[in-house]
Amino acid sequence: MQCRAGCGACCIAPSISSPIPGMPEGKPAGVRCVQLDARNLCRLFGSPERPEVCSRFVADVQVCGETREQALHLLGEWERLTAA
Ligand code: SF4
Ligand code: SF4
Repeated sequence: MQCRAGCGACCIAPSISSPIPGMPEGKPAGVRCVQLDARNLCRLFGSPERPEVCSRFVADVQVCGETREQALHLLGEWERLTAA
């Protein structure tokens, strides 16, 4: 699937353990990344400062669902399952 530009759910729901500019410890699950702008686009897109985990993330209907709300829910569930 194509990433829905302006969704941003994968920059909010999951935790990220690698450092992000402005978030040196990474970010907890459910917290909005400081690099996510008001349009829900990544300020670091295309920059070498963007964490590798973000660049590797590929949109997939199994985690992105059909809507932003579904993505927030599915990614949150995935986080809970893998954090155990
Ligand atoms: S959750 Fe999926 S659709 Fe939404 S921004 Fe991330 S990759 Fe794109
Ligand atoms: S650095 Fe960019 S892609 Fe990664 S979580 Fe933050 S806003 Fe999203």
